[in-house]
Order: sequence, then structure tokens, then C-alpha cells
Amino acid sequence: MKQQALVINCGSSSLKFAIQDASESAPLLEGIAERLGSEHSTITFKYAGTKTEQRLYEHDHRGAVSAIKAWIDDHPEAGIQLAGGGHRVVHGGETFHQSAVIDEDVLEGIEQCAIFAPLHNPAHVKGIKEAQALFGELPHVAVFDTSFHQTLTQDQYLYPIPMRLYRNHHFRKYGFHGTSYRYIAQKLASLDANYGTQNALVAHLGNGASVCAIKAGSSVDTSMGITPLEGLMMGTRSGSLDPSLLAFIADAEGISMKQALDILNKESGLKGISEISNDCRTLETAQATGDDRADLALTMFASRAAKQLASVATNLDSIEHVIFTGGIGENSPLIRSRICKRLTMLGVELDHNANQTAPRGELNAISPTGARIKVWIIPTNEELLIAQDTLELINAGHKPS
Ligand code: AMP
Repeated sequence: MKQQALVINCGSSSLKFAIQDASESAPLLEGIAERLGSEHSTITFKYAGTKTEQRLYEHDHRGAVSAIKAWIDDHPEAGIQLAGGGHRVVHGGETFHQSAVIDEDVLEGIEQCAIFAPLHNPAHVKGIKEAQALFGELPHVAVFDTSFHQTLTQDQYLYPIPMRLYRNHHFRKYGFHGTSYRYIAQKLASLDANYGTQNALVAHLGNGASVCAIKAGSSVDTSMGITPLEGLMMGTRSGSLDPSLLAFIADAEGISMKQALDILNKESGLKGISEISNDCRTLETAQATGDDRADLALTMFASRAAKQLASVATNLDSIEHVIFTGGIGENSPLIRSRICKRLTMLGVELDHNANQTAPRGELNAISPTGARIKVWIIPTNEELLIAQDTLELINAGHKPS
């Protein structure tokens, strides 16, 4: 029997979970609890190809974790034997350079980093505490979205603002999607003995979107900043813009800075420009029927993604690989081709037929044979990496102090 980890990704009103071993095989069980905090909260379980939905009678994170525990207890035939819990944590600040077995100090560290992720980190702490309470002796591990980017050098992670703001408040670029980038870097290195020492530009394009320059397996630059708002245009986030806009929006609309920031986080990006949807697939359908607003939003998305890729490329001496991942990166030939066209000056070439016909959900090379820069679609798997880190740390005997 392979060891398994219970992987938990806890948001303020949702909790995604998977029971995953350290191999590339599909999770044994996966699901999501939604609308936590409301009396309409539900949980779905996907097991052996079948999806079932239940109402939650305790409408909070505890209710969700209890339902997962009850499912495991009620299904001995599934053969689930958990070795540990693995928790996705959005912000690890400068405290966490790698994944950590959770003890009181680690929990305190996650709570301290909540100033930069006020919605996410407190929800993660809730999820961790409920899992610790309900799963008895099971050890738990925290895996941070930020830790992969702790290799950035100071000249890259500092904002050009007074140094005292960094010294006193740790205001700096942190970067996100690190678990995805680390998975991609490892996957690339597994494809060929040379790839692990080469350089890659990676575009993680989903509802949240960012890019990363990876040099011999380490992050040297990334587009997201102190929060996930910086960088690319996203589903509902504006990405980078002139910071003065924040004050202009607040003044013009008679709202607070915080409300203006909400507009940049929740009403901008693909949604703000198209006035149709934040969803790339919906916009592609609209664009195909001649909708100019959808086309403008998709053009801006691809243009800004290409600009950010070219920008982080300035931290590499050469580019051997360009990699697309995330819901849009893995599934949208249109966005991939629009981005690659704009990267022609870097020497990026696409095999248009391979790009169009690449089967969904699979790793594929989509550059012409013999191209100087290999272009890839690599489906990401953050849950697997969290399970691998969890099992590795636990088996190495890293016990909480
Ligand atoms: P993620 O946040 O990684 O789950 O990605 C979600 C995004 O991927 C949404 O904007 C979806 O519309 C987009 N997406 C998923 N499938 C497709 C597809 N076949 N074509 C275009 N976009 C897609």
C-alpha cells in the first residue's frame, strides 16, 4: 500500500481536498466543500469516477473536515491510510523558504504572514487546526506559494521605495504560484538529463496568472509581488498599472482606497475590459462569434502576458524552454499562439498544428522540431507536489518541535 497524504487547500468559504500518494497517479479521493459559512454549504466527493454531493450540517471548516473524516471512516474498502496532512499556504513571507512540518512556531509564523494575505492565511490556519483536532496524531506539513521565489536576489525582490519600508515592514516582492512553478521545474528536469540545468520561461495562466524565469531549477524573477495583484492582467485582477490610479479612482468614485483596491482585484482584468466574463473560455466563444469586447480583452491579456515574459527574461542569459501551464495555458491554443507571436524577437517559434491539436491534459512539445527554444504545455499538479513534500518531510523524520 502506497503512503497517502490528505492535501487541503482552505479558502475563506471553500475547502478543496485530495487524497494523493507521491506518484503521478490520480488522487484516490478528491472534492470541495463550498459556501462555508452559509446554511447552503455542501461538500462533493469524487471517488472511483463517481461524484456525490452532500449537504453539510455544520456549516464551517470544522464541518467540512469532519465530513471528510466521516467519508474515510465509512469507506474502509477505499483502503485509505493517511501518513499526514499537507496544507497549501498562500503567504510564507520571508519566514518560510521551504515546506515545514507544522508545530506551534510554524502556526505562529503563518499567522504573522497574514498581514500580506488577510483573506487566505487565517483560513489556512483554521483548516490546519481543524485537521489537527480531527485527525488525532497525524503530522501536518505547510507548503507555501511564496517559498519557491525566496531565491530571488535583493535587486529583484526590492521595490524602488525607501529602504526603511523594507527594513521596518518587509514590503517587497514575494511572488506566488510557487508550488506550480516548482512542480513544472521538476517535471522539466525529469524529461532530459540536460533540462534541469537549463533556463525556462514559465507562464502559469489561469484565473490568477503569473510568469516566472527559472534558471537551473531556481526562480530568478516572477511577476506577482507583495500580493497576487501585480504583473499580468488576470480574470478579475488588473495586474500592474500606474499606482497613482488608485488615488484617482478613489477620488473620482468617492470611495476609500480599500474599495478602489477591490475594483482592481475583483472587477478588472478580462471581466473589466470585456464586460462579459472573467472566464477565458466564455470570451473565446464570444470572440469567435465576432464580439469585439471579448477580442479586445483577449488581445490585452496575451499582450500583457508576453510583456511580462519578456521582462522576466532579462534575468536569464539564454532561454531554452517556454512553458505554458494553468487552465488557460494548458487549454487555449489561441492565447498560446498570440503570446508566442509577440515573443518572436526572443526567437520563440510555434508549431501551429501541434499547438492546435495538442490533446488536453497532456504534456506536449508545441515548437517545430529542431527549434532553438522548446515550447511546451506542461499540466501543473500542485496537489501532487504538496503530497510529495508532506510524505518526504514526514518520512525524513522532521517532527514538529
Ligand atoms: P485555473 O484558474 O487554472 O483553473 O484556470 C481557469 C481558466 O482557464 C478560466 O479562465 C477558463 O476559462 C480557462 N480555460 C479552461 N479551459 C479552457 C479552454 N478549453 N479554452 C480556453 N480557456 C480555458
